[in-house]
Amino acid sequence: MTKTVFSNIINEEIIENRLSNTASTPNAAEVHRIYSKAMQLKGLDTDDISILTAVNDPELLAELYKTAKQIKDIIYGKRMVVFAPLYISNLCGNECLYCAFRAKNKEVKRRVLTQKEIAAEVEILEKQGHKRILLVAGESYPRQGFQYILDAVDTIYATKTGNGEIRRVNVNIAPLTRDEFKQLKAANIGTYQLFQETYHRRTYANVHVAGKKMDYDWRVTAIDRAMEAGIDDVGIGVLFGLCDWRFEMLALMQHIKHLENKFGVGPHTISVPRLEPATGSDISIHPPQPVSDTEFRKIVAILRLAVPYTGIIMSTRETPKMRRETFALGVSQISAGSRTNPGGYAEGESIEDEAQFSLGDHRPLDEIIYDVTNLGYIPSFCTGCYRLGRTGKDFMDLAKPGLIKEHCDPNALSTFLEYLQDYASEKTKQLGLSLIDKVVKEMDDEPRQRSEKMLAAVKSGKHDVYC
Ligand code: SAM
Ligand code: SF4
Repeated sequence: MTKTVFSNIINEEIIENRLSNTASTPNAAEVHRIYSKAMQLKGLDTDDISILTAVNDPELLAELYKTAKQIKDIIYGKRMVVFAPLYISNLCGNECLYCAFRAKNKEVKRRVLTQKEIAAEVEILEKQGHKRILLVAGESYPRQGFQYILDAVDTIYATKTGNGEIRRVNVNIAPLTRDEFKQLKAANIGTYQLFQETYHRRTYANVHVAGKKMDYDWRVTAIDRAMEAGIDDVGIGVLFGLCDWRFEMLALMQHIKHLENKFGVGPHTISVPRLEPATGSDISIHPPQPVSDTEFRKIVAILRLAVPYTGIIMSTRETPKMRRETFALGVSQISAGSRTNPGGYAEGESIEDEAQFSLGDHRPLDEIIYDVTNLGYIPSFCTGCYRLGRTGKDFMDLAKPGLIKEHCDPNALSTFLEYLQDYASEKTKQLGLSLIDKVVKEMDDEPRQRSEKMLAAVKSGKHDVYC
C-alpha cells in the first residue's frame, strides 16, 4: 500500500506545548475574559480553548454551560434538526480495533444491502416521517465498487411512499479520491461527513492496524479533497475515548483553521461520538482514555463557544438523559430512532451481532419528537438551505450576520407541522401544535408573517414548503 504525503494540517508539538503551558487551575478573570469574547460570536482561538479545557471549578463550569446556552439560543433558537442513519453495508477491509465491523471480527455477520433492500429501509424511515438520511457503510464495496454508493444515493432519493420522500442524503463513508468526490457531489449529496477518530498519530497507528485506514494522512486530507471537488458542506469529528480529549479539541481546532484558511469556510457540522461497546472489540469496552460525563458536557459547551456557527451533532450513542442535557449546551442536530445494523429498520434491533455499536437511546422517532417538543425545541426536518444552494461559504455569509434565522425558523415550523399532520401520534400532535402556536406568537413581525403563510400552506395540504 502506498502512503500519502505527510500532512502538516495538525501540529502535535504546538498542541502538546500549549497543553503543558496551560495552568491546571485557570485564573477566573482570564476565564471570564474568554466567556465575554465568546459572546461576540466570533469564535475562540486555540489558547482560549486550551484554558477552557482546564476549567473544573463548579461556578466557572456553570458559567461555561450558561454561556454555551446563550450562544446556542442566539444562533439556533429552539430548532433541533432531526435525521436517521442508514447503514447499507457492514463489510469492511479495515482493522479499526474499536469497531464491530473490522475485517477480522468473526463475531459479526456480514451484510451488504441490495438496492431493493435499501429501498425497503428507506420506505420504513419515510413512513416514520424522516426527511434526512445519513448513509453509512464500511470500507469495502466488492461487487460494484464505489458505484454501489452512488447507486444507493440514487435509490434513496428515488424511493417515495405516499407523501414520504427523502430530501437530503448526507454520507459518512471512507475517504475518496477527488474524482470520486466529484461523482458524489454530482449524485446530489448534502454533507460529506468523516471523523478523523483521533488526530494523534501514534494513537491512530495503535488502533488502525490493517487496511487502507492505516494511512493517517489520506484520512486527514480527505476533507480537503472533498472541498476541492466542490462539496462545500462537510462534517468532521473525533471518536472520543481513544486519546486525551483535550489534545483532540485543540487538533480539531487546527483542522478547522486549516479549512477556513484554505477554503474561506470551515466545517458545516462537528460530531462528538464517544466510544460505545461493540461486539468483538476490547478497546470499545475499555476505552484507552475514557471521557467522563462531565468532560463530555464540557466538550460540547466548549465547541459551542469556539465555533458558534458550526452545527453540533449528537447521535443515539448517548442516553436520552445525556442527549437532553447537551441540547442546552449547543447541540443543533440529533439522530433519532437509529439502527446501526444494515437492514435494521426492516428487521429490528434484535440482530445485535450485525450492529456497529450498542445504542444509548432506543426510542422510536415519535417518542423522541415528543420529548424534544416537551423540552420546548422545534424538531426540524428542513432541507431548504441545501436545496436552494445555501451551502458552504454562502451559508456562513448568511448565518454570521444572523440572517439565516429568517429562513430556518419558518422552515423548521413548516416541516414540523408537516410531520405532525402526516405521521405523529395524537399525543405528539397536540403538544407540537401548541408549541408551534406559542413560537409563532413570540416571533418578530417579518418572520412571523412568513411563517404564518407557510404554515397555512401546509395546513391546506401542501408539502415541502420552504423558503
Ligand atoms: N467506515 C467509514 C469510516 O470508518 O470512516 C464510515 C462509517 S463508520 C461505520 C462511522 C463511524 O463510526 C466511525 O468514523 C467511528 O467514529 C464510529 N465508530 C466506530 N466504532 C465505534 C464505537 N465502538 N463506538 C462509537 N462509535 C464508533
Ligand atoms: Fe470499517 Fe469504518 Fe468500522 Fe473502521 S470504523 S472498521 S473503517 S466501518
